[in-house]
Amino acid sequence: MILTPHFCRRTFAVGIWCVAGLVAVPTLDGPLRVFAQEKPSKIVLREGNQITGRIIGPDKPTSLEELALAHITTNLKHVWGLDITVEKAGTRAEIRNALIVGTPQSNSLIRKSLGNSAGKLETLTTEGYWIRTAGEGSNALVVASSGARGVFNAAHFVTDFLVQGQGGSVSVKAQEVFRSSPVGQRGTYNLVCWGLAPRYTRQHWENVLDAMAADGMNFIYFWLSGIFRSKLYPESFIYPETPLTSDDIRQLIRYAHARGIDFYLGTGVFAWFGIDEIAKHHDEVRELGIQHMCRTLPAAHKAMNAYLLELYNEFPEAKGMWLEIGCEGEYHCQGELCQRKLDEFGSKQIGMSELSFLKSFSAELWKKHPQAKLVWGFGYPEAHKWDVKYHEEIRKSFQDSRYYFLEVRQNWSLQNDQGILKPLIHLLPRAMHWDQYYALPLRDMGERVRRINEDKLAGYAVAFEPGFNSRSVYGKRIPFPVDLIPYALTRFAYREFTWDPQLTWPGFRKLLLSKFFGEESDPEWVDLMLTLFELMRTGPITGSFRELVGGAAGPGEYASVLPPRLVAIEARIGSLEAAAGPKARKVGLPLLRQAIADMRQTYATKQTASQL
Ligand SMILES: [Zn+2]
Repeated sequence: MILTPHFCRRTFAVGIWCVAGLVAVPTLDGPLRVFAQEKPSKIVLREGNQITGRIIGPDKPTSLEELALAHITTNLKHVWGLDITVEKAGTRAEIRNALIVGTPQSNSLIRKSLGNSAGKLETLTTEGYWIRTAGEGSNALVVASSGARGVFNAAHFVTDFLVQGQGGSVSVKAQEVFRSSPVGQRGTYNLVCWGLAPRYTRQHWENVLDAMAADGMNFIYFWLSGIFRSKLYPESFIYPETPLTSDDIRQLIRYAHARGIDFYLGTGVFAWFGIDEIAKHHDEVRELGIQHMCRTLPAAHKAMNAYLLELYNEFPEAKGMWLEIGCEGEYHCQGELCQRKLDEFGSKQIGMSELSFLKSFSAELWKKHPQAKLVWGFGYPEAHKWDVKYHEEIRKSFQDSRYYFLEVRQNWSLQNDQGILKPLIHLLPRAMHWDQYYALPLRDMGERVRRINEDKLAGYAVAFEPGFNSRSVYGKRIPFPVDLIPYALTRFAYREFTWDPQLTWPGFRKLLLSKFFGEESDPEWVDLMLTLFELMRTGPITGSFRELVGGAAGPGEYASVLPPRLVAIEARIGSLEAAAGPKARKVGLPLLRQAIADMRQTYATKQTASQL
């Protein structure tokens, strides 16, 4: 899946048509673009009080297919009050008004419906999906993929965009959808350290993984150094408050993999949580007078190698490792050995030492775990801005397809061996982009994805780090609420833009309306939702770990300008509510009300506290 060639994904990236159509009528932006339209048909699930629809799943669904079916039935019940049980394909000949869900292998009715065109599914990744009518006049909808993860992704598309209702009737738009994401690697750089995050339980993280699966993601870099109970370096376990045992982490790995999310062991290398303690306890890994671990001393390489191997051996089911080399600011070895100049361009020994470590460690790791992928952070100007040798070495010696390099400082180009800037793809084909996506306006996230797609980067890793910062009023809540504003929208934007980098902003707004309120709803709902998102995202309370220890600025002017705005938004909600449909009432409206209540309460508390 991960190694699917780019051309394959790109050729059939996104294509959505209405089912029965001859006349080309482009009417919408985004994934719901309708290219041809005659009479859009629909699958009627309920007419008045009468349940007319059915859901037909595989005879023996895989666990991911079961999750997909459960998502559809739970959503139909929650949003539309519909109780429909899933029937087995082998026991059902009648397909009128049915959603037929699965793969050609798992569901005989899908195999039959697709017939000779089943091969077309193979042109998508196993995460992609094809939704279309079951056949001429059948009035049934096939929800299919060549892989179970694609079925799961398709189930979310159906509930988010195709189910609609009016006056008691509920139906599914019979709209053809054929898509997979052109951004191959999608997931989070997930920090378990900082603030209150080390206190999250396994169940809390399972909920986070569920959210990431719903967001169409396929990897997680789960931070472990400092949390990992190393026997070789017990001093590196610095979060005694963590409830996560090694067994919990093994269960989390399986939980992620059962959802099509590759679990990577995140860790510092030569630096960061827990690793700094190793440096403190072992003076042979530091240059004289330097407090950080050296990147050049053989003893430092030996210690890092031993720690990382111990970590992988403890969790051998992981798919790989995220290796974060501490290169920000002065946070790396400033000793003479590492800072030795190698040429007049400004190359230094520290760069070569780091890469020689990566090379020797990977050779060692792959002896026992040959499948392990290794992701390495780069782009730090503090350490490597002028280092032409560092970048040339990456280009020359790290082309093995198990290496990924994650650019972490908004560099879209880096220098070659002559100091000339080249797009990242010239350095290596598996370069990826990183953002603190919760801090971005949603429209900017779309711009980032567009660049990633244009530059043919391998993926988009985004920071989920609620213990560090979340740009919300929820910094003190355990766990961070992934289903409320603002993160519910951050997640949604990530999924929609990574699955369709050509999605326009007006197109995104239509999707937002459809997902949270229903596509026929008043577009002003979107304005209200985005306004609350921005009030939360840009407010002086940011959810930073500094707020836990009283180091944050007070609300200032916000305390006076926010309340009348919230009152005005409530008034607009009040005037729109009468015409709101079931989806708006069940999905979007509660989110707006919750955001208002939580901002009001948090800023009122803050104000009181600062007045004491
Ligand atoms: Zn050094």
